[in-house]
Amino acid sequence: MAQKRILTGDRPTGKLHLGHYVGSLQNRVKLQDQYDTFILIADIQALTTHFEHPELIKQSIYEVAIDNLAVGLDPNKVKWVWQSHVPAIAELTIFYSMLVSVNSLRHNPTIKTEAANYGYDDMTYGFLGYPVSQSADITFLNADLVPVGEDQLPHMEVTRKIVRRFNEMYAPDNPVLVEPKTMLSTCSRLMGLDGNAKMGKSLGNAIYLSDSAETVASKVKSAITDPSRISLKDPGHPDICVVNKYHQIFNTAEHANVCEMCKNAQIGCVACKKNLAAALNNLLDPIRERRAYYENHRNEVKEIIESGTALANQIGNETVRKVKDAMHLSL
Ligand code: ATP
Ligand code: MG
Repeated sequence: MAQKRILTGDRPTGKLHLGHYVGSLQNRVKLQDQYDTFILIADIQALTTHFEHPELIKQSIYEVAIDNLAVGLDPNKVKWVWQSHVPAIAELTIFYSMLVSVNSLRHNPTIKTEAANYGYDDMTYGFLGYPVSQSADITFLNADLVPVGEDQLPHMEVTRKIVRRFNEMYAPDNPVLVEPKTMLSTCSRLMGLDGNAKMGKSLGNAIYLSDSAETVASKVKSAITDPSRISLKDPGHPDICVVNKYHQIFNTAEHANVCEMCKNAQIGCVACKKNLAAALNNLLDPIRERRAYYENHRNEVKEIIESGTALANQIGNETVRKVKDAMHLSL
């Protein structure tokens, strides 16, 4: 039986960090054997918020591709797709835009939150409409499954509604578009070591997958810990310490022991942070090794992106042909 297809992706707006790793990359690696996986390098979606910085987007395309390869995604199984090089996505976006009301987009909770975060009081048509473009990303490929975080759930509903409306209206007897299922990420957000609820690149608290071992150690060193613990003799409160939360996530085997030692004042924050940095570097070392390979073989990365995009275009052109047929737009 053919494998089910997954569509996932990243906005090339900078390097990927540990938040991306626990939030999606780790899961991608696990799923690559079971599913036909396509990873979209979503440069058009990046433009919706970063249209004034196309040079950052350009530079991030390689960074994001190499980050994905470095975590262990296998280019013999996984396909990478350069979004702006797939005209089918733009075409489908136009057709789908007739099937979505402006009000439903304006009331989309994720659009509202993101517009507030970006400080948009007069958002662009492109930003307001990015869930429609996302529907095209998913459906041009006939993706069965889309792994997402909770913030993406409203957008998945937009896609599913478009698919249903399209099929009911234009292809009632022989559905053209595949209605995708949502695969909700079970991981919660990774907090920042500065105590912020989220690690994020624009928050200045990110540990990047491409950071050197020294950088990781120095970022961990500056982490916020239990503020009531002044000297080594004071018992710590691991339940309120972000370094301890990181031990739980990245140093699972030693976590219980670290908690006990902290509570009993048997380990100080400096040593505890050193342990954590070692655990993080343990995780990142093989990633660094693969990164070094791809950094030295950028032509291979280019070919990987080109061949994935070529395959995506074949599939996308076929979808557009069927869509146009159903809409009576072909001769
Ligand atoms: P920015 O600060 O510019 O918004 P970011 O670091 O939040 O950047 P995005 O490109 O916005 O990165 O993130 C894309 C996706 O990566 C999110 O939708 C989410 O699924 C995942 N992600 C980002 N940060 C985290 C995090 N700290 N924990 C878990 N998942 C994350
Ligand atoms: Mg973000």
